[in-house]
Amino acid sequence: MDRSVIDASALSAALLELEDNISWDPENDFRRSRELEQKALAIGDELLAARARLCQANMRLRAGDVAAAARRIWKVHQWAVEHDARQLRARTHLVWATIHRYLGDAAQCLEHSVQAVELLDDSATEHMQIWHRVKLADALALAGSYDAARSRYQQAEDLAWAHGNLELALAVLNNYAYNELGSGNALGAQRIIDRMRHESAVAGRRIDPSKLDTIGAIEIGNGRFAEAERTLELAIERYRLGEFNDNADSLPVFYLNLARAQRGLGAYDRAQHSLDECRTLSTERELADSLVRIEQEQAELHAARGEFADAFAVHKKFFTAFNKLHSQQREAQARTRQAMFETTEARQEAERFREQARRDPLTGLRNRRYVDEELSILLDADPALTVAIVDLDHFKQINDRLSHDVGDQVLIMVAKLMETELAAVSPDGFVARLGGEEFLMVLPGTPVARAVAQLDGIRRVIGGYDWQEIARGLPVTVSIGVAGIAEAETHTQAGLLSTADRNLYAAKHRGRDRVVSGVPYDGRARSYRDASAA
Ligand code: GH3
Ligand code: MG
Ligand code: MG
Repeated sequence: MDRSVIDASALSAALLELEDNISWDPENDFRRSRELEQKALAIGDELLAARARLCQANMRLRAGDVAAAARRIWKVHQWAVEHDARQLRARTHLVWATIHRYLGDAAQCLEHSVQAVELLDDSATEHMQIWHRVKLADALALAGSYDAARSRYQQAEDLAWAHGNLELALAVLNNYAYNELGSGNALGAQRIIDRMRHESAVAGRRIDPSKLDTIGAIEIGNGRFAEAERTLELAIERYRLGEFNDNADSLPVFYLNLARAQRGLGAYDRAQHSLDECRTLSTERELADSLVRIEQEQAELHAARGEFADAFAVHKKFFTAFNKLHSQQREAQARTRQAMFETTEARQEAERFREQARRDPLTGLRNRRYVDEELSILLDADPALTVAIVDLDHFKQINDRLSHDVGDQVLIMVAKLMETELAAVSPDGFVARLGGEEFLMVLPGTPVARAVAQLDGIRRVIGGYDWQEIARGLPVTVSIGVAGIAEAETHTQAGLLSTADRNLYAAKHRGRDRVVSGVPYDGRARSYRDASAA
């Protein structure tokens, strides 16, 4: 087998490991996806490179750098849309959804989550089938649509069990339970975590720290403080053993929940100790929002102990810190949104500019530049490509006898007639203005004989148009020189156009207002067909 094929499938498998994953090590996985991108580029595989870049965006997001993620995702998104890479598009929408969740935009988060599910088809992996539905459920819950969220969680869970995928089934239950708690249904959440515990036990599997944290929080919500303390101590122990891949900032959260459980138990010294531990870790890791939550819990703890003056002082501190954090977050979000907006706008602007640069300002037709780009592509792909150069007859007279302005009006109207008529017979074709009163018509997939008949119809429409109002009685006709790719001098754009030009010259020579094709090489006009004379 070809070496690059082996490389590509190995690379794809390595990427899949990063893509179909629900627990990340953001820094390492970022490095890994950079390496994979380099390898993909080395074998010239753009799809693999785009997939690797999406992983990078995702890892930047997991590391908390939303702006960097947003910057990276645009190009991937664009590439995926342009190349109709459905699976990549589905994954891209999922990362978009997470970006919007971080930015606090529930509506956008939901919109992208819907797309991430809508784009699923048979090519999507099992992981995607399940996880994309979970994320849609999360987005629905974020938007406050708990009933809709529940049915999606149920669907995702059913799918996970149908595939015998315990890990994903537990992940579904984790998110489901967490959102039930968030919706104020602590009892419902409790029933879900009971199932989580049960299924893990049946499978003989240890529950990972972040799921234990969810369980602990729900136990606190149900006033089961002793159970919660045990659960959270276990989460911390398993985290410290390093058995599970987890976020760098999860540990302080575990201690904070542990402190809440211990306060609920009335074990204030233990609670204070856990809170101090949380503070040390959060300070070390500069976790601003965790530090704010610590002040809040500290105030609660003082109050529980009856230390109301302290509670009040800490509460004020919390309040100030909370406001400061929120305004910082809001500013950061605004900056990211602005950056995202500017990228969209710049992209649209660039597209508009690109489009404008390929149109003729007078007639609105495509221009020479567009022809140069498009024709080279068609030349290679279309064995039945035919082109025609159209030149207005005695156009100089119109300028001279009427005015340059009338000349312009005539050009605009001829352009409109050609475009309308060509669209009717050759919908994939196009008309361009090559310059002055000379135009090009391109008819893909049209053998010369058929093209000549169609072009002759267009010629008649132009000549038969009522020019009275514009040209005041002066006739407006066109001569057309046709060239099919099979008969072109050389299989190049220049060869094709020069063949068409030779035929146009013959048409002028024969008296104008006609379509000519098939003039032989040596230029002696012996055997050319003259469609209008036929
Ligand atoms: P023929 O039938 O041999 O093609 O005769 P012609 O008069 O059409 O050919 P010629 O090449 O001698 O003249 C073309 C004229 O087209 C000369 C030029 O002034 C005019 N022209 C070129 N571009 C424009 C334009 O943008 N607007 C107007 N009004 N006239 C233009
Ligand atoms: Mg001319
Ligand atoms: Mg002319």
